[in-house]
Order: sequence, then C-alpha cells, then structure tokens
Amino acid sequence: MPDPLPPGRRHNATERAQKERMVATTNDTAVPDVVVADEHARRQDVQTGRVAVVGSLNMDLVARAPRLPRPGETLAGRAFAQVAGGKGGNQAVAAARLGARVAMIGCVGADANGEALRAGLAGEGIDCAALETAAHAPTGVALIVVDDSSQNAIVIVAGSNGTVTPDTIARHEAVLAHADVVICQLETPTDAVLAALTTARRLNKTTILNPAPATGPLPDGWLPLVDWLVPNELEAAALTGLAVTSPGEALLAADALRAVGARNVVVTLGAQGVGVLIGDEPAAHWPAQPVAAVDTTAAGDTFIGGLAAQLASGVAPRDAIGFAQRAAALSVTRAGAQPSIPTLAELRD
Ligand code: ADP
Repeated sequence: MPDPLPPGRRHNATERAQKERMVATTNDTAVPDVVVADEHARRQDVQTGRVAVVGSLNMDLVARAPRLPRPGETLAGRAFAQVAGGKGGNQAVAAARLGARVAMIGCVGADANGEALRAGLAGEGIDCAALETAAHAPTGVALIVVDDSSQNAIVIVAGSNGTVTPDTIARHEAVLAHADVVICQLETPTDAVLAALTTARRLNKTTILNPAPATGPLPDGWLPLVDWLVPNELEAAALTGLAVTSPGEALLAADALRAVGARNVVVTLGAQGVGVLIGDEPAAHWPAQPVAAVDTTAAGDTFIGGLAAQLASGVAPRDAIGFAQRAAALSVTRAGAQPSIPTLAELRD
C-alpha cells in the first residue's frame, strides 16, 4: 500500500517525544512538561501530537428560524445565541478537545469579542501566544441562521482576520516549527495562507488545507504544499468546476484534484459521509454514522480538528479519518459551533 505521506513526515510525533526526553535529561526545567506529556499520552494510549492552526476567529451570532429567509424577507427567529466560532478557532478547539496540544496563529480585534475569543481558546488549553490583537480592525463576526431542517446560511465579516499577513506567519515561525501538523483554511488572506503552507513545507510538517470558502481552483503551486486537502462538496465543486452532489461525483472530483497534484483528498459530504482518496489508491466512499442531526454548523471543523489531532499523534490515516467521522457525527447531534465539538473521552464512551 503506498504511504500517503512522503518520507520524513511520518514520525514527527515520535521524534519530538525522543527530543523531549533528551532535553529532559539535560535540562531540569523541561522535566515537568515531559511528565505531563507522557501522562497525557498514556491516558490516550497514543503519543500526544502538536497541531498549529493558522486561521480565522469570529464571534458567531446565531439565530434559529423555521426556514432561511428569502431575499428581502424578514422572518421571526425562535432563539439567539452568541458563541465563539470561525473556522480557525473551531478547528483549533476541535483538535484540542480531541487530544492534541494546539497553538493558534491569527488575529482578533481590541474589543470585547476579541477578549472573549482569546479567553475561550485559552480555556481549552490552546496556546494563544501567537494570537495577535489588531489595533484598528474589529474582531471578525459571522451572522448565522439555522433552520428547522438543520441547514444554515452564513455571512462573515472578516475584520481582524483580514489583517493576518505573511509577516504574521514569519513572526510566529517557531510555532509552526514546534508542530507536527499545520492546519490552514481560506478565511484569512491568501498570501498569509500561502506563507504558512510554504513555511510548514520547508519545516517538513504535515499540512492540512480546508479550502473554505472556495471560489475557484487553487492558485498554481499550492497543491504540492498540501498533504491533506479537505473540501466539503461545495468547495470540491468550486475547486474542480465539477458538480459534486453525490458520493460518486465526489470521487470523480477527488480524482480530478489528484490529476492536478493533490496527494490525499477527503471530500466531506455531510450525512453522506466522505469521499476518500489516499495517495495512489482508488478513491472510495465511506458512509457517515447514522445520527439525528440537530445543527451541522461545525461538522467540517470537527472533522478537520479530529483528523489533525490523530495524524499529529501518529495514527494511521485510515484510522484518523474514521475517528474524524465519528467525532463529526457526534457534533451534528448538538447545537452551536464550538459548543457542539466533542472531547476524546466522549468518543471513547
Ligand atoms: P461542512 O460543515 O464543512 O459543510 P460536512 O457537512 O460535509 O462539512 O460534514 C463534515 C463531516 O461531518 C461529514 O463528512 C460527516 O462525516 C459528518 N457529518 C455531517 N453531517 C452529518 C450527519 N447528518 N450525519 C452524520 N455525519 C455527519
């Protein structure tokens, strides 16, 4: 079976553990950290991997309504909640809850939303040293409507997320150097995402790109920087120009992405599961776990965080994908974005 990762990017977690132990024998101040890491890993039966997330943080303003409004229409909503969101933040929280040590690279505004988002990530144990504060841009917000059939419609105002630049990435290269897996999305400016992927590739890290939102094919030169491309069906359609509404079409889209340089592709298909393409193997459809969906808002983010956490800890790709599916299925049974993301312990019950 072909190995889905190029040589040199397979054993990062193990190598890091060995390095930590070497440090522990020569530097007393490193000992408590190593003891904690080993205890954490022992409880999970796997090495605890490190994940760096480069991406967006939004305050989500979520209204529930019987259906999505039509253009020009005003609807009476049933409930309102203000919760932490943004694909970067959601994926960071998912990776942390699902077992990884996580660091976030991004930017919030100097306002109450920014403070709340920072505190929320810190409360999840996420390292926020590389989370900057923009002086002149408000924290990003997302206006979300969820209808009675669990479909959603979302407007995002990027705010401070739009101030992340290649310089931001350069300032925090050490965070990428410390990670096993680096996750990016497209809710931060493209030149910053390209800088993150380029740096991660130079540092020999495993990279995951969630091309969301996607408006067309990825720019030339991006796919060789990406180990795992994880679009949903809309994004797969935008990337390829193909219709992607069924598992069969998702597999054709994955093949088309491989033909232009993608290494490994996972097309997420909501309740229909995932289309999986690993290296040179034939693309395959993996059905989703049957669950009663309540709110699908963070399903894709949970999937990606779970995939990253598992890959970072050295779990084989097929098992990592299966785990990510189970985590995402559990997330859709609960309301909200970050509040719906499960923990490793919940998945083991
Ligand atoms: P996104 O949120 O990015 O649109 P998807 O809706 O494709 O992502 O969901 C991501 C993954 O979450 C799916 O591939 C599937 O594994 C899981 N999932 C989503 N919706 C359901 C559902 N209704 N039942 C079971 N699993 C689901």
